[in-house]
Amino acid sequence: MEENQHPLNPYMAKILNSLAQNQRQPDSSTTYNGSSTLAACDLANLDCRVCNNTGYVTRTDENGCQWARECECMNQRRSIRRINGSGLQDMVKRYSFENYETPTEKHKLIKEKAIQFTRIPVECFVIVGRSGSGKTHICTAICNELMSGGWNLKYMMWRTEAAELKAMVNEREEYKRRINQLRNVPVLYIDDFWKGTVTDADINLAFTILNDRYNMKNKKTIISTEMSMEKILEKDEAIGGRISERAKGFVLQAPDENWRLKDRYD
Ligand SMILES: [Zn+2]
Repeated sequence: MEENQHPLNPYMAKILNSLAQNQRQPDSSTTYNGSSTLAACDLANLDCRVCNNTGYVTRTDENGCQWARECECMNQRRSIRRINGSGLQDMVKRYSFENYETPTEKHKLIKEKAIQFTRIPVECFVIVGRSGSGKTHICTAICNELMSGGWNLKYMMWRTEAAELKAMVNEREEYKRRINQLRNVPVLYIDDFWKGTVTDADINLAFTILNDRYNMKNKKTIISTEMSMEKILEKDEAIGGRISERAKGFVLQAPDENWRLKDRYD
């Protein structure tokens, strides 16, 4: 081998390659596309003295050849990026499995099932209950756990996002882009699904998103709603049927009473 021909080991080459690739990619495509890339934001959100925030550590061997390996801080950086890209960055700080209180058997079951959902290949988790029953807490804790495990995730507050999407009749490209995100993201958390009046447009939108997710493998969908499964089925059999089939054993009823008056609970 000629000197200087391969001054770096393959790992270094991979790192530099993915850095270069990230610089070429527009924002929208880097948000959800996997955990192996090194975006500039990965390097800005943590202070690491080991690599001086370069993301890699180098050493020079006895032949003067430079070797590099990825720094340990990169996993943490990816996790932070995942959370920041999810829309849940403020909520994950507040809601975890650790601080989900279980004063009743019902709460215990919900927590147990939620943890189980993060560990096995079940595709859908549904929690039904009134406002104040801790739905958001348990769903956010699931999201937190999944993101720590490397899953990319998107948070969708149904009422707000559905209204925006339904108003996008004249912006086909933007509409398509946003719908595709919701369809393709590995984990989608729909908060307060079908809250308020459910119109035909809501039914169509839900079908567009959920039917594709239903047909794809390795997707997880987390749904919190005030509407019972019976009511969802009544509104639309196809959507209700798909949800209940994929969530078999993971459709849970949150304790009905406003068991504690805590303003942050939803
Ligand atoms: Zn580092």
